[in-house]
Amino acid sequence: MHQQSYAFVFHQTFIFQKMRLTIKIGSNVLTRADGSLDVTRMSALVDQIASLRSQGHEIILVSSGAVASGRSELKHIQHDLDSVDQRQLFSAVGQAKLMNRYFELFREYGISVGQVLTTKENFGDNEHCKNQENCFKVMLENGVLPIVNENDTVSITELMFTDNDELSGLIAQMTHSQALIILSNIDGIFTGNPADPESRLISIVKPGKDLTDYIQTSKSSAGRGGMQSKSSVAARTAEAGISVIIANGKRDNILVKLLNDKDNTPCTEFLC
Ligand code: GLU
Repeated sequence: MHQQSYAFVFHQTFIFQKMRLTIKIGSNVLTRADGSLDVTRMSALVDQIASLRSQGHEIILVSSGAVASGRSELKHIQHDLDSVDQRQLFSAVGQAKLMNRYFELFREYGISVGQVLTTKENFGDNEHCKNQENCFKVMLENGVLPIVNENDTVSITELMFTDNDELSGLIAQMTHSQALIILSNIDGIFTGNPADPESRLISIVKPGKDLTDYIQTSKSSAGRGGMQSKSSVAARTAEAGISVIIANGKRDNILVKLLNDKDNTPCTEFLC
């Protein structure tokens, strides 16, 4: 009974309000099984984001995929590189490739995009943080769609975010988004192993609910995050007053369905 009334409120919000949304797209959504950039999927997600903007929603995109797309671009590199060199090299090449694709795809809709590469140091009570906040403000005021990623070329080891899930939670708070949507290659959080037919998708997570018994510790192959990190970022962000949805970015038209028919769309929603 209680659960239904929460869901109802959220559903109404999604249908009637023009919202500011942070959308995080994970590496596994943007890459094919062979590691190459899935431009068809990327293009479909751009179509959906353009459609949400035409409904009046403001979007901030947090996109992973730099390291994965750089790795697939530089397949010919034979000699051994350590993990830091790999991350720097692949992200430097892959981020350019990723942004180039986004730039061209959004341009077809007349949408200007801007790149924000950030590091942990830009969050906190300092000048960098204020500058970054202002950068989002001026971009959004001028209709420019911010596309954010960690600056993987300089964020190494202890200076790194845990993953882009953590980054997306911080961006949602910095930009005062009403909701954060985390797109992965899975429908959300299940009561057990998602591959097990007995497992059920948890559609609503109420504030304070402990999910540790349900979460699988295995992580995604292409990205750094896993469901454990998504779940704790989602709980923290919801605690800060921002609704969070975890959903499957590989499902057709997922973003439009979440915004317009959420109750009939597989996802896990963290209520705030
Ligand atoms: N920033 C990394 C990239 O663009 C992704 C980090 C993550 O997987 O969360 O490749």
